[in-house]
Amino acid sequence: MVITVKTGSRTEFVDITADIQKAVSAGGFQDGLCMIYVPHTTAAVTINESADPIVKKDILMILNQIVPWQAEYRHMEGNSPAHVKSTLVGASELVMVENGRLVLGTWQGIFFCEFDGPRTRKVHLKFMQE
Ligand code: ZN
Repeated sequence: MVITVKTGSRTEFVDITADIQKAVSAGGFQDGLCMIYVPHTTAAVTINESADPIVKKDILMILNQIVPWQAEYRHMEGNSPAHVKSTLVGASELVMVENGRLVLGTWQGIFFCEFDGPRTRKVHLKFMQE
């Protein structure tokens, strides 16, 4: 299954928890694992706090400090910072599903991480039945 994410900024975290839960519910998936996979080299997926929207901005701020926009990058496309951030954060997450619900902590959300937007992106979901 594939869900589409439209991003609106160059770098941005988009909360996709509800979209993934919707896919789990629509598929009638009850118990097992849900793999969330981002097939892009300048984007990523991560799980972190969704209760306070400032947290995702702080994470992004620090990622932007760790990976400078300007450096002696040699990749001709000019988006090396996005490639580096994609590798740092990672392309996949694995989340348990119990009784048809994603098993997440009270404060956790699943975020699509855009590092070279705005673009229309894909997120692959694979359900593995227990
Ligand atoms: Zn590139």
